[in-house]
Amino acid sequence: GNITASNIDDEVLNFPPCMAHLHFELRQKHRLSHYARFYYTLFLKECGMSLEEALHYWRQEYSKPHLCTSLCTHDWNKDSKKFTYSIRHAYGLEGGRKNYKTPNCRAICDQIPGANYEGGCPFNSFDMDSLKSILCKSMTKNELDQFIVHIANQKPQDACARFLRYKSNTYCSDITISKPVQYYRTMIEPDLC
Ligand code: SF4
Repeated sequence: GNITASNIDDEVLNFPPCMAHLHFELRQKHRLSHYARFYYTLFLKECGMSLEEALHYWRQEYSKPHLCTSLCTHDWNKDSKKFTYSIRHAYGLEGGRKNYKTPNCRAICDQIPGANYEGGCPFNSFDMDSLKSILCKSMTKNELDQFIVHIANQKPQDACARFLRYKSNTYCSDITISKPVQYYRTMIEPDLC
């Protein structure tokens, strides 16, 4: 992938629902809570967004007025060093210089890092209206209603695989989704499945 701050609004169509949700939250509120920001930064890094583009993307949003009262103190113009450090840290260029990875699906389903956390697996943790509001960006109402029936008793990763099959229009009968990055890679290279 070659995700940039300019093409991400198109690329988001290839993101799994968990990460697409964070993108839309960021675009709408211009802020994310700490762990949502960290996980989403790692996802974009692993999908091929360069550090320069990541800084550009986050700077764009964090320079806008916040629409999230709990994060009202977060402002790129006041704290550019702090935010730059935190993004460079996620890219393994500061602190312990670790090669951090996006959590896998199981961890995303199990973790609730804080009361303000807006992330998580939509197939596992979101109420029906919230799940539908994400999926309806890719489906007609009829398709969505049928899809919801089909995934009613499925595990989150199986429901996610079904959504990928629907979106990629590809016959990937055996695919199991275990990581958000895997979903993205399969979307852009269906031959992988
Ligand atoms: Fe994301 Fe995994 Fe849930 Fe799919 S199953 S939405 S990739 S956490």
